[in-house]
Amino acid sequence: MQATSRDDADVIVVGAGPGGSATAHYCAAAGLSVLLLEKAAFPRDKICGDGLTPRAVAELVRMGVPTGVDAGWIRNEGLRVVAGGRRWELPWPDLASYPSYGLARSRQNLDHTLAEHAVRTGAELRQRTAVTGPLLEERTGRVVGVRARAVDDAGRRTGEETTYRAPVVVAADGVSSRFATALGLEKREDRPVGVAVRTYFTTPRHDDAWMESHLELWDGEPGRSNLLPGYGWIFALGDGTANVGLGSVSSSPARQSRAGVDYKDLFARWMANTPAEWGFTPENQIAPVRGAALPMGFNRSPLYTRGMLLVGDSGGMVSPFNGEGIAYALQAGRVAADVIAQARTRSTPAARERALARYPRTMREDLGGYYTLGRYFVRLIEHPEIMRLCTRYGLPRPVVMKFVLKLLSDCYEPRGGDWVDRVIAGLTRVVPAS
Ligand SMILES: Cc1cc2nc3c(=O)[nH]c(=O)nc-3n(C[C@H](O)[C@H](O)[C@H](O)COP(=O)(O)OP(=O)(O)OC[C@H]3O[C@@H](n4cnc5c(N)ncnc54)[C@H](O)[C@@H]3O)c2cc1C
Repeated sequence: MQATSRDDADVIVVGAGPGGSATAHYCAAAGLSVLLLEKAAFPRDKICGDGLTPRAVAELVRMGVPTGVDAGWIRNEGLRVVAGGRRWELPWPDLASYPSYGLARSRQNLDHTLAEHAVRTGAELRQRTAVTGPLLEERTGRVVGVRARAVDDAGRRTGEETTYRAPVVVAADGVSSRFATALGLEKREDRPVGVAVRTYFTTPRHDDAWMESHLELWDGEPGRSNLLPGYGWIFALGDGTANVGLGSVSSSPARQSRAGVDYKDLFARWMANTPAEWGFTPENQIAPVRGAALPMGFNRSPLYTRGMLLVGDSGGMVSPFNGEGIAYALQAGRVAADVIAQARTRSTPAARERALARYPRTMREDLGGYYTLGRYFVRLIEHPEIMRLCTRYGLPRPVVMKFVLKLLSDCYEPRGGDWVDRVIAGLTRVVPAS
């Protein structure tokens, strides 16, 4: 995979979301020439909750992205859980491996910041460049580049199709990953999937210090009205607004489509019953309710094949426990860049392939056990009666709360720590990582 004179870069990254920008940043930092191709132009919107747990903050810190309040970030202290008519404030754990605060920032802003960061490190970003498919070596079927065309802000073609060549290509093109699909890598039917919608409101509580999570959604008075099928969030953004959304998770795409939930209707019913102090009225809503799928638990595989790596949502890396995907996309970009940089130093094609093949292995070792636990968790909570029992009898116990917070946010000491950390780390090691 040495770049030759015919190549345009050492590595091409398709998509400049968090996964693509992290990959581009780390590859450039390792001295590789990087072409980062993005179909949109920044700043651009992305449907998301905009919440970053301490795990995601740790990845930003590792990348050298400034995360201070002076750089425009709003910090949060932990999770406020609302369930069974009660609320608990659970501070983020105090750990050696992660900071004890989370962040929130609109994706319009975050993704722009990350792409600029990758450019500052040395990556070349080409915006309004839509990749239309892989460029394959005829004899081997190996990916040796991409086909792409210039597009305008509406995605309309504005130029002729061109090709860009590189010995390795990273598909970080999100949940639909046309690039992976073009190579025959379909989504797995045996992995959980989430669906969520969100919008923005102006609110007097825009600087709330907690990420609020509603485990039960009622269409009237809690306990005396209908329980709606889903979980909600309110993430204050500190800029006069909050990101408000809800979603649900199913153990398979088939179950998800059978559920046939109308999320926009659900959202309207939930909003009509949120406390007045948030100000979630139609006049304060500043964006449409928009939804998207959350691909979970490595729902596309293999993560490496024929010169192409999958990073982030394209490889289905959202956590089945909490719907968080940014931290994992950043982590995958870091690991992918490392194997690409290592592979480049090997002198034979076989040695380079061995180095690249370490990517899926490392990702599985790091996250496979945790995602397997997440699949068990989804199978449990998709039964509302089990969920209700857990929130009624489990959550009020401090020790259960501590365990749940660390498990659901994936913020525990991987080695050492207290007994809760050791139990979670032990569980992730004993379950099969597939
Ligand atoms: C409603 C909702 C709420 C969520 N809330 C949270 C949350 O609060 N916290 C959290 O951590 N995660 C959340 N997630 C998950 C999170 O949004 C994703 O996991 C994350 O965006 C994955 O990053 P990525 O870089 O892999 O993909 P993306 O962010 O999807 O980026 C892909 C990029 O590729 C570009 N692209 C696509 N196709 C092409 C092409 N052909 N050519 C060139 N460029 C292309 C796209 O324009 C985009 O910029 C949420 C998801 C949803 C749907």
